[in-house]
Amino acid sequence: MASNILTPEQNWRGIILLGKNTATYKLGLAKVLLDQAILGKTHISMDELSASFFELYKERLKTNRPQLNHISRKTVMERVVAKYNLEILSKEQAIEEVRINAFNDVLPRFHTIDNITVSSNFYHFDFSTGLTITDKTFEAISNSNLQSLIEEITTRWDLLEAAFEIRKSNSKLENDIRAFYLLNGYKRTDITHLRSALDGYQKGKCFYCGLPMFEENIEVDHVIPRQIVYHDEVWNLVLAHSLCNQQKSDHLPTKQHIQHLINRNEFLIKSNHPLKDKIISALGLTPKKRFGTVMKVYNEAVQILKTPWDELAGYDPATDPIFQAFVKINNE
Ligand SMILES: [Zn+2]
Repeated sequence: MASNILTPEQNWRGIILLGKNTATYKLGLAKVLLDQAILGKTHISMDELSASFFELYKERLKTNRPQLNHISRKTVMERVVAKYNLEILSKEQAIEEVRINAFNDVLPRFHTIDNITVSSNFYHFDFSTGLTITDKTFEAISNSNLQSLIEEITTRWDLLEAAFEIRKSNSKLENDIRAFYLLNGYKRTDITHLRSALDGYQKGKCFYCGLPMFEENIEVDHVIPRQIVYHDEVWNLVLAHSLCNQQKSDHLPTKQHIQHLINRNEFLIKSNHPLKDKIISALGLTPKKRFGTVMKVYNEAVQILKTPWDELAGYDPATDPIFQAFVKINNE
């Protein structure tokens, strides 16, 4: 990590755009940091931070969109703003609750994207005295188009809310599927033993971004999310970076990924791969039948999940330079 080549601007954009955010806090913090740095401030006290955070979320939550990737739970900010709106808390009490409860996760984790810690620290912090904004923040600002930095925060925030909403609206369906399989005694099978067989085709490269993979960050991924197919059949499994896998999460793959998967399966069959028989018995005897089976499952997934992964994420990891740089550095 010492010879990291990413600029502060790239690191900043990585924090905003990448990673499996389970809540919107990083975006809130990024917005406050940016607002204060633009004013030339180098220190934000906990009181200032809490007040800014409260005002920011009070506005944001007027749409009532979810801020957490959970079907029933809410973030501290959602709860505090709701209590303020109901006049259960005064403004001062609300800000105090924000100060005590809202920052425990986000302040220590802002600089971490999944398992990668970025090389630029945009602030130092202390839970009692607050944040000291570092030169890296000012470098990132001065080397970027300020308007686009702000827009990126807003866009990513919108996308996360949309993703959390999809999850909530699918939760009933998910629960129904889950109940069905639990009743039928479905058990998740161990699929790690398939890694070497699958790698014969991928030759050490990630199915999604095409960059090399290394032992510690390879994962077996379900191209059509497991929450839809509820099986671990090999025709739907690929190897991917854990970061790519997390980015995709439970979202719908793109049509291109499905075509790539179909081609991969046909290749395995033609090359007499040890998994050949399993794929044929699951999908059909001819290429046409197999294509039909995969597309049928994919179209069912479209009905349920609706938004493909790339639209939801707002970019394609295979062509996104920031993403590629992160994967590269993580592999070094
Ligand atoms: Zn990848």
